[in-house]
Amino acid sequence: AERKVLLEVKDLHVSYGAIKALSGVSLKVFEGEIVSVIGSNGAGKSTLMNAIMAMVRREKGEVLLAGVPLEAKSYRVVQQGISLSPEGRKVFAPLTVLENLRMGAFPRGSDRKVEDDLEWVFSLFPRLKERIGQYAGTLSGGEQQMLAIGRALMARPKVLLLDEPSLGLAPIIIRDIFKELRRINNEGVTILLVEQNARQALLLSHRGYVLQTGHMVQEGPSEELLANADIKAAYLGGA
Ligand code: ATP
Repeated sequence: AERKVLLEVKDLHVSYGAIKALSGVSLKVFEGEIVSVIGSNGAGKSTLMNAIMAMVRREKGEVLLAGVPLEAKSYRVVQQGISLSPEGRKVFAPLTVLENLRMGAFPRGSDRKVEDDLEWVFSLFPRLKERIGQYAGTLSGGEQQMLAIGRALMARPKVLLLDEPSLGLAPIIIRDIFKELRRINNEGVTILLVEQNARQALLLSHRGYVLQTGHMVQEGPSEELLANADIKAAYLGGA
């Protein structure tokens, strides 16, 4: 069967004033895939996520979901079927877990399925149900990451974007969260993540891209990237 391209980034350019953060980045994510973009600090990973979400201006190029161009307003991008769990989680600290999750469903308007989806998110992250009335700012780092992912899922995205989900978390917590991402993918959500933690990201994903100072320099099946000598030396601690 022919695989369907769900998300496509074509020749994307983004600048911050005189700083060119992305210089013609292209990538494809097929329906059902987990794809990771690895790269060092400052490579442009967050900029790529934020440009897909229209949180920064796309200077040139386009982003397509199932062939349809993504609009230039973030809430419209969410309505079109893409949501982001942002770098540093950015949960709403003075709101409860439940209120944060409801915020994620906000772009859906008065969709009655929201209640079902709350149960879906609680089934993925039972911990969030235990903490339903707790202020998000009082959660642990791992719980805040679960909440950020849950909040993004409440938009019922076709593609879930994740910006550094492992950032600042202990290895055992990272393992739990990545296991949950695999389950979310098995339930039909296509995933694109950017990570400095290249090994974990490639172990989770089907394919990977390497972003270096605003350019894609390599791509391939994750197992090939994991076995690649240059990538090992540059991104996998040389092992
Ligand atoms: P990190 O993992 O540190 O977030 P990254 O790969 O996500 O790195 P970006 O945050 O996308 O990289 O940054 C890409 C480049 O753009 C860097 O040179 C960065 O300094 C610059 N940059 C990012 N945001 C801004 C901004 N708001 N204003 C000016 N320059 C920026």
